[in-house]
Amino acid sequence: MTARNWPLLKLQRWLVSYVIGVVGCYLAAVAIGVAVTSYRTHDIELFGVLLVFGVVTIELTRREGEATEYTKDIHGIWHIPVAILLPPVYSMLAPILKTVLAQWRVTPKPLHRRAFTAASQGLTYGVCSAIFHDVASRLPTPATEVVRHWLYWASLAVGCAVLQATLNSALVAIAVKGTDPAVSLRNRQFARDPLYNDLAEIAAGTLLAAVIAATGTWVLAVLALPLVTLLQRSLRHAQLSDAARLDAKTGLLNAVTWQREARAELIRAAHNAAPVSLAILDIDHFKQVNDAYGHLTGDNVLITLSGVFRRQLRVYDILGRFGGEEFTILFPRTDVDDAVRIAERLRSTIADMTFASCGYQNMSEQVSITVSMGLSTASSASAHTDLDELIIAADAALYRAKALGRNQVCTLSGGQPGE
Ligand code: GH3
Ligand code: MG
Ligand code: MG
Repeated sequence: MTARNWPLLKLQRWLVSYVIGVVGCYLAAVAIGVAVTSYRTHDIELFGVLLVFGVVTIELTRREGEATEYTKDIHGIWHIPVAILLPPVYSMLAPILKTVLAQWRVTPKPLHRRAFTAASQGLTYGVCSAIFHDVASRLPTPATEVVRHWLYWASLAVGCAVLQATLNSALVAIAVKGTDPAVSLRNRQFARDPLYNDLAEIAAGTLLAAVIAATGTWVLAVLALPLVTLLQRSLRHAQLSDAARLDAKTGLLNAVTWQREARAELIRAAHNAAPVSLAILDIDHFKQVNDAYGHLTGDNVLITLSGVFRRQLRVYDILGRFGGEEFTILFPRTDVDDAVRIAERLRSTIADMTFASCGYQNMSEQVSITVSMGLSTASSASAHTDLDELIIAADAALYRAKALGRNQVCTLSGGQPGE
């Protein structure tokens, strides 16, 4: 592979500088840490033991693999005690081994991404370890005030672990957004599962550190091993069930899940006598986009469009990929007039947009598309209360929009809105 083909150099320039900057700071911090630390046999032994536990966890959960592009794990349970119980240089060195092992034994990923992840973790753990040791040296000693000592100690440890998780998320969020602006950070970081994940990691890591500190021996840490493995597996399970719900390309609901959620919403709406509208959206002449610019450009259009839906529609609208270049949107508590207004706004936004092409020959070309949409509504007095009926009516309206020349929104009864 020539230098020009390195995945790192395909990123935007500021992002390349950012990645190199973070990795450079990390290497400098490691060099300073290595030079200023005085090494004790007890520290090295504890570091080795916690690393071995980390390796065992990776090996025990290896077959579950790493789920998505931006995977979370709970290896911090071993990392937090390193940061709290040992001088900062150890927690800066620990991610290197974990990264090499994950690359070699679990999933190969672009090296710059692995290096960035290790650097971001190493730097943030190093900072929090330094803060912990500085403040902990001023706490009341356990010999005189045992309860107060451990309460302060645990609060400080949790505070430092939360700070580490926050700083690390911020560093990674910049890189993730730079690489893929369509990624939703809210879903990635503030959804329920990632938050549970971080809380479990911090709580278990602090408990483990407290047990080792209070007993003076690492032997009891063996008891944490099955717990960590179980947590890692349950985390992976949550990621897999997410993958089964979502369309892999766009991150919208897949057809089966969309239908299940739409049916549930229709029952709720019937119960509350509220109107519900349904839109089927189909990209016009999408085959020509693929033919002219390649399938990667077509995929890029689909992914960018999904981001537009997420941004422009309301959080409670139910978005799904029906298949191919067709999308379904259920609008709860929306009558036909409102649905037409929302759909028309979406249609005109898309018609005004340009999408980047990914072809070699058409490197700088911008692609435009239009979409046609068919709408149907179930009002409390409507005959359409069944999802299949609503889909059939919206499909017929979509067919009409195509027949009338595309790039428009149609309802079945009213024809084109405004007609
Ligand atoms: P119309 O305006 O009548 O809808 O024309 P169309 O070309 O959009 O419709 P047609 O059904 O003839 O073609 C749909 C195209 O969508 C063909 C298929 O290659 C493309 N397509 C379906 N799924 C994907 C996908 O995941 N990625 C890409 N790039 N193309 C896809
Ligand atoms: Mg189609
Ligand atoms: Mg089409």
